[in-house]
Amino acid sequence: MIVAIDGPSGTGKSSTSKAVAAKLGLSYLDTGAQYRAITWWMISNGVDVTDADAIASAAGKPSIVSGTDPSHPTITVDGVDASGPIREQDVTAKVSAVSAVPEVRARITELQRSIAAGAENGIVVEGRDIGTTVLPDADLKIFLTASPEARAARRSGELKGADVHATREALIKRDAADSSRKTSPLAKADDAVEVDTTDLTLQQVIECVVTLVEE
Ligand code: C5P
Repeated sequence: MIVAIDGPSGTGKSSTSKAVAAKLGLSYLDTGAQYRAITWWMISNGVDVTDADAIASAAGKPSIVSGTDPSHPTITVDGVDASGPIREQDVTAKVSAVSAVPEVRARITELQRSIAAGAENGIVVEGRDIGTTVLPDADLKIFLTASPEARAARRSGELKGADVHATREALIKRDAADSSRKTSPLAKADDAVEVDTTDLTLQQVIECVVTLVEE
């Protein structure tokens, strides 16, 4: 069973995907964490992240390893735990530019496909292009949406008191960049089930996805 869960930021993708995987005994892969990890490595190693050629040349260098236990997902870069630094604001601001570079996408997509192929009990993979590009033959594809207001309110809650207006502007900017890049943009697959989470609790979204998996 391979479940692809895509959608923009703040729709509840990570919380939903982890909970569904844990409930159904599946592995879990956060593909955004992988793009954040390669971005963090580039920043830490002095790569100019405004220069697509520099990013492309460095794309193959870091070793990125994802742990796929939904109750304890991990990410290491060259053997170093990167789970804290990849959530920093600087990484969030630069990740869209790094992940738009085709060499980065090719490298990370290959990694994602090999993790999914090795998940013996099945896997929930969350991201932006999983249903369209990474795993087009997934057994179930879900596309989560929510109003910009709901997404910003959730994200500011996670960021403990961050300004909702500034968070909303940053989210809209990142989604616009992710949706307009040439290589595998944020998009709903034709055969994905769209779930609008604006007026749903997390528990309701989880139940909805579990029901779709079990159908
Ligand atoms: O999911 P998260 O917000 O952590 O993703 C961070 C960024 O990684 C996204 O804004 C996007 O630029 C990139 N990403 C991507 N393709 C994916 C997952 C994430 O380009 N499948």
